[in-house]
Amino acid sequence: MRTIKWKLVAMYLGLVFLVMIVSGSFILLRYQNNEMEKARDQLEVYAQMVSEQVVLNYDESSFQSGLIQFARSGSTTGQIQGSILDRTGATLATTVTSRPPYPQYKNSVVIGAMAGTATFSRRQITDDSGTPFLAYGYPVTINEETAYVVYAQMDASSIFDSIAQTRSTIFVSVGIALLITAVMGYVFAKNLTNPIVALTGRAKELARGKLNQSVRVYSHDEIGQLSESFNYMARELSRTVSDITKEKSKLEVILHNMTDGVLSFDLDGQVLQCNSASLAMLGIEKADFTFKEFLEKFGLGIGLYVELLEHPQTRKEDFWVGEKYLTAAFSPYAGEGGLDGVVVVLQDNTEQKKLDDMRKEFVANVSHELRTPLTTVKSYAETLLDGAMEDPEIARDFLGIINNEADRMSFLVRDLLQLSRFDNKQIVLQKREVSLNEFLEETVRQNKIHASNKQQTLLFRSYPGDVVIQADPDRLGQVVNNVLTNAFKYSGEGASITVWLEEEDGYGKIFVKDTGMGIAKEDLDRIFERFYRVDKARSRAMGGTGLGLAIVKEIMEAHQGKITVESQLGVGTTMVLWFPIDGKKKV
Ligand code: ADP
Repeated sequence: MRTIKWKLVAMYLGLVFLVMIVSGSFILLRYQNNEMEKARDQLEVYAQMVSEQVVLNYDESSFQSGLIQFARSGSTTGQIQGSILDRTGATLATTVTSRPPYPQYKNSVVIGAMAGTATFSRRQITDDSGTPFLAYGYPVTINEETAYVVYAQMDASSIFDSIAQTRSTIFVSVGIALLITAVMGYVFAKNLTNPIVALTGRAKELARGKLNQSVRVYSHDEIGQLSESFNYMARELSRTVSDITKEKSKLEVILHNMTDGVLSFDLDGQVLQCNSASLAMLGIEKADFTFKEFLEKFGLGIGLYVELLEHPQTRKEDFWVGEKYLTAAFSPYAGEGGLDGVVVVLQDNTEQKKLDDMRKEFVANVSHELRTPLTTVKSYAETLLDGAMEDPEIARDFLGIINNEADRMSFLVRDLLQLSRFDNKQIVLQKREVSLNEFLEETVRQNKIHASNKQQTLLFRSYPGDVVIQADPDRLGQVVNNVLTNAFKYSGEGASITVWLEEEDGYGKIFVKDTGMGIAKEDLDRIFERFYRVDKARSRAMGGTGLGLAIVKEIMEAHQGKITVESQLGVGTTMVLWFPIDGKKKV
């Protein structure tokens, strides 16, 4: 009953009921009045005639016969019966019965007439038989006094019947009208509310996210216009939502393809967004933590949470996740009602950190490497100045030491310069075809003297058919000499060093094998690092800078080749130099 449809039906019914009842009552009253007036007129005429023709013409004793005569004369309708009453109300003559006892009349009509006023009773008066009457009392004045009353009455059953019939007809028509109104009102209300119901349904669907909604427009009235507006709104909404969705998915694609990790939290600390880069960086599969848990889990300290709340400014924090060194930028973001949450952007700075650390270590290493010879030079120079210069023998020894240290420093600086040129890509290789058999034979020959100095044997096994590579001969010489020098340095007296060649998978491979001290497994990977020496004192004593193999590695890489090592502690070491035959990098 709460729907407009039923409200409309109830309203129609009420309205029709009211109109019908008012108009019905009006008609009924008018009809009733008419009937009454008619009856009154008839009764009045009758009474006046009786008064004139009987009362005033006859004696009181002959009223009865006069009245009968008058009735027979037929000058009025036979429906009316009359009586002549004296001033006390006693019946002197009547047409109701021909002989006494005459009926007694003591009603309001009689009383009114006795008081001198012609009175008509609009209400029905019933006699003993139950017949309804309408009565009229007419005073007959003699000598300005009411001497007699003519009482006229008429059978009003037909009038009252007809009024009752009219009333019931009105009631029936009200009933029928209400029924028709109910049906028609329902149909009308249904027609009126159907588009509204349809609109409501579509609006609900729209709210549920089904955007392709439209309603049929049946008319151009207000509801039609509402439907058109709804269709327009739905179209616009659909377009706007699809634009937003497109933007959102674009942003999501960007977010998920970013190399930086992005995490966002709402004010309650719940994760709103989390891209795959952030999961990978944090080494997790799902971001199932709150902001506080995130801070705790990665050791960022809960104090940061309070700080961000109190001072909502971007803050950066560095932290380790396993091997990764991450930088997190915490940016609180605000909405209309103040702080809304925090966006965390993660950057993997492991490489940067490594480079930074390496740079620091490098500077520390260089300073350290230079400080030792400088201290030596300074102390010997001071001793010389303090008087040792006077003794030519000591002076020569000291100057020799100073010279050696200066050489060491100059080697160091030379190696450093060379590495820096590699780093800055300043080294241009003068590549040409090099026959390795020939080249190695010559190099080995030149190095024999160094081997024999330590009673070591140096042997070259030439390769049948030769291997020709594209290389810069000077750099190639530097590489081979460096590796050979190491073999001499880190092998004891009597050791044997063998050099040979192989061709494999497009590479010309130069092997330098010694039977020296070998390298422990844990050091193998590190010997190509700058300044890395397995035994620092020994290396220094032998004039090594710790940069030899680092330079070799750079030269090999510049040739698109590589250097590998196999070694067993106490047994010996084999260095392998891989040169691509065509000078191009192999995959
Ligand atoms: P250094 O100037 O100290 O020789 P390198 O870069 O040439 O520096 O070599 C790095 C380290 O590798 C050396 O200090 C040494 O401990 C180790 N090494 C290199 N070659 C050999 C080898 N043939 N046998 C044993 N150890 C070696």
